[in-house]
Amino acid sequence: MEQRSGYKVILVMGHSNCGAVKAAIQAKGVPGQISALYPHIQPAVDQAGTDLEAATKTNAKIQAALLRQASTVIADLVKEHKLKCRGSVLRYRQR
Ligand SMILES: [Zn+2]
Repeated sequence: MEQRSGYKVILVMGHSNCGAVKAAIQAKGVPGQISALYPHIQPAVDQAGTDLEAATKTNAKIQAALLRQASTVIADLVKEHKLKCRGSVLRYRQR
């Protein structure tokens, strides 16, 4: 972010059928690092409920909002309308 003029959009991209969000909804113990994500995903589940797609979308929005607050550089650029920081969801086709 040193070169301030080059960035227009930061996109926090969730994805369909996300195992981490699914596991957070089910509050199941899973092996590996995914359990470490629960506390960060839980606010989205609290807000959106247990619908996977809604929780995934809400999580992306919450994470984008956190990112906008976490960095003064990002916050200033957003305030000056030079940068957008948004959450979105990439939907994979089910096969
Ligand atoms: Zn995922």
